[in-house]
Amino acid sequence: MRNDCIFCAIADGEIPSFKVYEDDLVLAYLDINPFAKGHVLVIPKLHSQGLLDTDDETLSAVVVRVKRIAAHVKEVLGCDGFHVLQNNGEAAGQTVRHVHFHIVPRWTGDPLNFVNHKGDMDELAALAERLRM
Ligand code: 5GP
Ligand code: ZN
Repeated sequence: MRNDCIFCAIADGEIPSFKVYEDDLVLAYLDINPFAKGHVLVIPKLHSQGLLDTDDETLSAVVVRVKRIAAHVKEVLGCDGFHVLQNNGEAAGQTVRHVHFHIVPRWTGDPLNFVNHKGDMDELAALAERLRM
C-alpha cells in the first residue's frame, strides 16, 4: 500500500469500487469514467508504477486474470471484441501511477474513441453486479 496511491486505496478498501473480481493478488473493478460499457481495470494489489517495475510473478498472475476476466466480460456483455490497454508514463497517457490493465469491450461499428465518459453511478453499480465473478 502506497499512501499517495488511489489504486492502493481501492485495493485496501479505503476507497469504494465497483468490484468485478478479487483474489489474493489481483483486484478488478469498473473504470468510473469508462471509454465504453464494461470498461474494467485489473490491478495487482501490490503497488508498482508500471509494467517495467512489476515483478514477473505478479505480472504473470495479473495477465492470466486479465484473460479470464476478458472472457467473462465478453460472455456476459456479448461484445464482438475487446482491447487490452496498459499505459506506461505520462507520455503514454498514464494518469494513475499504479500498474493497471484496461479491458475495453468493442461492438462491431461502435463509435469508441478512447475518451473517458463520466460514469453514471447507478449504471456502474448494476453493471458490476452483472459482471461480478
Ligand atoms: P490510465 O490513463 O492511467 O491508463 O488510466 C487510469 C484510469 O483510471 C482512467 O481510465 C480513469 O477513468 C480511471 N480512474 C481514475 N480514478 C479512478 C477511481 O478512483 N476509481 C476508478 N474505478 N477508476 C479510476
Ligand atoms: Zn498503488
